[in-house]
Amino acid sequence: MECLFCNIAIGAIPSYRVYEDEHAMAFLDINPTSPGHTLVIPKKHSMNVFDVDEESLAHLMNAVKKVSCAIVKGLDIGGVNVIHNAGETAGQVIFHTHIHIVPRYADDGLKHWPGTSYESEEEARMIAQKISARIDAHGE
Ligand code: 5GP
Ligand code: ZN
Repeated sequence: MECLFCNIAIGAIPSYRVYEDEHAMAFLDINPTSPGHTLVIPKKHSMNVFDVDEESLAHLMNAVKKVSCAIVKGLDIGGVNVIHNAGETAGQVIFHTHIHIVPRYADDGLKHWPGTSYESEEEARMIAQKISARIDAHGE
């Protein structure tokens, strides 16, 4: 099997596991943004949000909630950032669906991405229209 995270899911490649159920598992990221940075994956292979099936995604997000709650309690912190990089342009490197949970510590120095603004209401309306016109019942 070629996929790194499929191999981690079956235990063929070691990881520091923090959670596992029938459909999902969570393990520490090997290069943490902050201590406790965790990746949550579906056991069934898919590449990212664009092709993951609805059932796997539902199980995955339930696991993300469980693990996020455990992280804030276990590490005694106030919050986490939940992130999914989908596609090479968005910085995805491992093409097995995964959700990053990044623990946030007071004064950790991490910054949110900067916000901008639309040049006009027309521009915002056009962009919203381009997106809404392509919404599919199954999100594909
Ligand atoms: P992406 O950019 O694809 O969203 O993030 C991939 C993540 O996987 C990175 O944060 C990287 O540190 C992590 N990673 C890459 N290889 C391994 C590995 O062998 N084991 C673990 N636990 N994490 C890995
Ligand atoms: Zn895989």
